[in-house]
Amino acid sequence: SRINIAIDGPAGAGKSTVARLAAKALHYIYVDTGAMYRAVTLKALEAGIASDDEWNVGLFAQKLDIVLLPGEDGQRVLVNGEDVTSRLRSLEINRNVSYVARSEGVRSRMAELQRLMAQDKGVVMDGRDIGTHVLPGAELKVFLTASPRERAQRRFLELDPASGISLDQLEREIEERDRLDREREIAPLVQAADANLLDSTGMSIEQVAEQIVRWAVAAAST
Ligand code: C5P
Repeated sequence: SRINIAIDGPAGAGKSTVARLAAKALHYIYVDTGAMYRAVTLKALEAGIASDDEWNVGLFAQKLDIVLLPGEDGQRVLVNGEDVTSRLRSLEINRNVSYVARSEGVRSRMAELQRLMAQDKGVVMDGRDIGTHVLPGAELKVFLTASPRERAQRRFLELDPASGISLDQLEREIEERDRLDREREIAPLVQAADANLLDSTGMSIEQVAEQIVRWAVAAAST
């Protein structure tokens, strides 16, 4: 039978890539919740709302309908019908998203949308609070980590080369974002008590995905 899989962990641990691969192998739906927080951040900044204005950013999020579509080259993100996929990975979004993600209004709206996507099971969902808050009943929970350097290197490869940021600077910004995510009041980044810890340092993406698929097959047969 189909199960739900929660994959949480800090930035750049490889969650989205391995979650996508595992979902493909299992014929499950992949849900990238970080992309949803990024989409809210993009639209809030566009509307002139400061990312740390928790109240107004929360009100604003109630009006957003976010849809994730499987596409040829990965998942597309639609906000009220507009495809914003190509604009979610900028340094500006990286620097603001963890402030937007502190807002209670934003988090409750995102969790509501995420639970709807998972209601029929067969979902691999990656984020920070999936195993602890969004899907506490998920049959498989994985907490994925890697060394800070390796995480920065992975995010470095995602960025526009013209951004001009150094690997050292990016590593500092990732550590700052993790700190904000760990120290926030609502649904902080923390390993769920019943999650499997997986340190991907030195492992290939395929090896990590295979481990998750093995766990999933075992969990689905119990
Ligand atoms: O996974 P990604 O790096 O794209 O997530 C961007 C940011 O969105 C995180 O640093 C965090 O602040 C926020 N986020 C969250 N809860 C989630 C997923 C992402 O707070 N479930």
